[in-house]
Amino acid sequence: MSAQQLIVDLSWAAYIVIFLITSMQALRHPRRATIDVALFFLVSALVIVIAELGRLGFLKTSDLLPAAMSGTLILLLSYVILRLLDDFAGVPKPWMRLAAGGWVLSSIPLFIWARPAKPPALVTILQIIYFVGPQLYAAIGFVRASRKSSGVTRRRMTAIAAGSVFLGLNVLFPQIGVVLPSLKEESQIISQVLGLASGISYYLGFATPGWLRRAWQEPELRAFLARAARLPRLPDTLSIIKELEAGAVSSVGAPNARIGLWDEETQTLRFYDGERVVEASPHQLETPDGRSLLLQKPIFTDNFARDYPLATVSVANDVRDFTALLSAPITAGETWLGVLTVYSSRAPIFADDDLELVQLLAEQAAVILESRALIDEATRVQAREEATRLKDDFLSAAAHDLKTPLTTLMGQAQLLERKAQRNPEAPADLAGIQRIVQEAKRLKDLVLELLDAARVEQGKLLGPREPVDLRALAQESVNRPRTSPHALVVEALERVDGSYDRIRIQQLLENLIENAIKYSPEGEEIRVKVWQEENNARLSVTDRGIGIPPHDLSNIFHRFYRGQNVNDRQFAGMGLGLFICRGIVEQHGGRIWAESTLLQGSTFHVTLPLISTERSQ
Ligand code: ADP
Repeated sequence: MSAQQLIVDLSWAAYIVIFLITSMQALRHPRRATIDVALFFLVSALVIVIAELGRLGFLKTSDLLPAAMSGTLILLLSYVILRLLDDFAGVPKPWMRLAAGGWVLSSIPLFIWARPAKPPALVTILQIIYFVGPQLYAAIGFVRASRKSSGVTRRRMTAIAAGSVFLGLNVLFPQIGVVLPSLKEESQIISQVLGLASGISYYLGFATPGWLRRAWQEPELRAFLARAARLPRLPDTLSIIKELEAGAVSSVGAPNARIGLWDEETQTLRFYDGERVVEASPHQLETPDGRSLLLQKPIFTDNFARDYPLATVSVANDVRDFTALLSAPITAGETWLGVLTVYSSRAPIFADDDLELVQLLAEQAAVILESRALIDEATRVQAREEATRLKDDFLSAAAHDLKTPLTTLMGQAQLLERKAQRNPEAPADLAGIQRIVQEAKRLKDLVLELLDAARVEQGKLLGPREPVDLRALAQESVNRPRTSPHALVVEALERVDGSYDRIRIQQLLENLIENAIKYSPEGEEIRVKVWQEENNARLSVTDRGIGIPPHDLSNIFHRFYRGQNVNDRQFAGMGLGLFICRGIVEQHGGRIWAESTLLQGSTFHVTLPLISTERSQ
């Protein structure tokens, strides 16, 4: 047997096998696309059978009827390939009608002119144009469809486009033999190989066998699963949904995928459409998404309009132009989380076992969304615990600090009361009354401090700003009468003017000076410096007191934080002063920090912008 004959027999066998497989598929799932695919291979197989019968001597292929039959079948291939392009990517209706008419018109001459009589050259040219035109149009159509699609669909469309190219070359090669008779045999062998290659490519693209479909889906699926582990840690649920949808699109090779999240409370599916959230109730809308959720099973429809006539609005109503879709429920244990739906405007893009893949993706989505929910819950619990801890800290600190002056106040007041009852005529106990006033003032200061701390949290500490000379303000603070023995010195060479909330800056200076006094029990000197540095106002308060342990330096500005080297008995305080100072400085757009050497003293530094950069008002 010659090599040429072997190839002819192989193509013959391949076409018959492919025809059998595709007609089985068409019988099992009689849809337009499966029927068209089977028709395509039926026509090809018939052409081969006629040729084979001729070769074996059962038919005389030069007779009018067999020759005309073979010719008309070859021309029919052009029409069927257009139908397939229509199934997979869409062809304008007029073109389809033109192609059908073209087939009839170009076939008629075949039945009129029997060999050796030849039709006029124009007729032959028109027949060639009819054969090549739709084939070329389909090849370009499939290349464009492959460019627009991704994953397995892209690979299928590429295989089909390659099939068209092989078919075109298959027709062209025998012409080389006509022009160069010395290459006749080679060109015919090559033509046969191309014919076989075209049949196989069409088969792989049009009726992709399951194993190949899975192999073609694998790279995208693998990439998605590799990404899946880090998805729960994305900043928000919307980003996770978008990634899951993109993963489904690339793995299934469909143009669109949407996830609807189930809201138990409102009994609706929520779809994220950009910034908008679309809500839909699966109970009211007879939709595939809703049905998949309610029945808790995957659902496939290749004709949405036919199967869901009541779905006037689809659940994912922002995904337009689709006919086929696959929906699978996203469920963790007993909990409904939502539905994953993959859409396509062309039903043959999907295969039946894609339902399994979508189900697998939905299960993966369930794991990811569940992990996300757990992470969110853990963060919420942590935040709640933190809030409770802060509240507890706040309450115990407040209660503790308010209790001391209140006890003194109560004691003193009761004493005065008893004295007055016993001896109403006696002169008022001025010292006792002064103690009450003093303690009430302390109490008031503490309450104000607590209120200010709350205002820092809300970012509402500052009032209106006005031009302030920091040097004058520092001088004023230092000159305020105090009972402490400390020497207070201001170092300032020039005015430093800025636009600040005067009362709050006064409070800042007062807090820093009071701290310097409190934490310098030996009564050492305290220096307040004010100067200008580049575009900033600078001030510092230096003492030679107990100092701050190094590891406390960065913490002392936190709420309720007190240094390790201070205790309540020796140094009363709530740990709020510096927190408020930081609030005042930062809300003015400045910075505060401390430098200190234990037992030698501390310096508190402040920078404030000279030109107001209001951060919050
Ligand atoms: P309080 O003085 O009420 O504790 P603050 O917020 O004013 O609250 O100060 C927080 C902590 O910073 C103090 O408890 C103390 O440990 C430390 N601290 C503040 N100022 C000084 C200072 N001038 N010298 C040493 N330690 C200081």
